[in-house]
Amino acid sequence: MEKDKTYSPEYLYNELIREIRSYHFSENMKLIRKAYEVAFAAHATQKRKSGEPFIIHPLQVAIILAKLHLDRETIAAALLHDTIEDTELRGEMIKEEFGGEVLFLVEGVTKLRKTIRDEMEKDKQERKEASLRKLLLATVEDVRVVIIKLADRLHNMRTLEFQRREKQIEIAEETMEIYVPIANKLGIFEIKKELEELAFYYLYPEEYKGLEQELKERKSEESAEIQGFVEEIRRLLKGRNIPAKVRALYKNNYSIYQKIKKRECSLKEMYDTYAVNIILESFEQCYLVMGYLHNAYNPLPGRFKDFIALPKGNLYQAIHTTLISKKRKPVEVQIRTVEMEDTSQVGILHYWKYSSGHGTQMEKMEWLKDILDWQKDLAEENFTDFVKTRLSRQDKKIFCFTPDGKSIELPYDSIVMDFAYQIHSQIGDETVFALVNGEKVMPDAILNNGDRVQIITGQRKGSFPYAWIEKSKTARARSRMMQANRR
Ligand code: MN
Repeated sequence: MEKDKTYSPEYLYNELIREIRSYHFSENMKLIRKAYEVAFAAHATQKRKSGEPFIIHPLQVAIILAKLHLDRETIAAALLHDTIEDTELRGEMIKEEFGGEVLFLVEGVTKLRKTIRDEMEKDKQERKEASLRKLLLATVEDVRVVIIKLADRLHNMRTLEFQRREKQIEIAEETMEIYVPIANKLGIFEIKKELEELAFYYLYPEEYKGLEQELKERKSEESAEIQGFVEEIRRLLKGRNIPAKVRALYKNNYSIYQKIKKRECSLKEMYDTYAVNIILESFEQCYLVMGYLHNAYNPLPGRFKDFIALPKGNLYQAIHTTLISKKRKPVEVQIRTVEMEDTSQVGILHYWKYSSGHGTQMEKMEWLKDILDWQKDLAEENFTDFVKTRLSRQDKKIFCFTPDGKSIELPYDSIVMDFAYQIHSQIGDETVFALVNGEKVMPDAILNNGDRVQIITGQRKGSFPYAWIEKSKTARARSRMMQANRR
């Protein structure tokens, strides 16, 4: 685990500028410089628990965000994120100097901090249901607020050693409970993994150290064998003229620990402590390479997953398969493109790099859209239920298909109306019945994984029965039917 070293503010400021220049080399740094100076002055008399000047913290938070290629306003807001709460600096001054957008972000972070603090005062059960919801509501306003907060928490976790033990446990628990699931939902795995690892270290120090020791031994024992397998694959791909990056990566300690617990096995019995990553140029090559590998090695049945055709809700894409190596050992292999690799690390942030404005990125996140729709039309009470079913960790998904083979991801137990509205709101509005696998069904029929659904539209009479609204599982179907009924 990496711990933050001690650096001077000027050193960190220069590093921040270097990071920003690496992706925005023509960027005017005036805004950043000013934010640094204002934050520096505002926090001048404060110190961190480590004894360092306080400004180190906002600088490190800004660096985390620059490494994720966030925009200027977000970085300026990160530098100022603790000023409204902890210093004399007022919102009007931020607005005057930095504009409404930076103020909006700083205020968002301040509000979010208060929300989380209030949440943590409630009892655990109540909290479980509500906190994610509130955080996500903030996300919907502007997801960058949540990302600043994640970076803030990451730096606080990196410097947790300076807190007393009870505080460490409290912060680490809060991290596992709130921040890890949020980072996961947004697909920002770089942050998710590090937060999880640090929280694990502080919550279960004995287990952490024991596992790390055991893993260290294991890694040195099996490294030659893994390298041999990686070389085999490199040769195979080279022989087919497919440029590829192949490497073996160990999973993080926490995910190994969780698997050991879940399977009630020992580390020795686990084979998937690492995965071989194959990074290719195009998605066609992914399928081609999968074919070559399944031809050269025996794949383990039941372990093949195509997250390229059926991406996860948080944008993760790859083909996963487990091959039996020549040494007769199962090896997990993950095949993806360079672009998918990027998305797999930064999730939603991937879209900042390739498009401008944050409206577009939000549109790509289906669940954010669902929440927006739901929020507009339903009472708070129902909203909790919705978020609970939508975001619970075990939320089951099914995939149904349009007549031309496009896959539509739906919550478990969805009905025909859910499917129809996922395709287009007008199609939903005009649904009269559907053909599911060729058989005629009513619009409230429950769909099963793999169903092929053809929506038959026409002139609908009367309003949507309330039972359909009740039975539907997506926010979009529910809110649109209610909208239609009001017309
Ligand atoms: Mn902070």
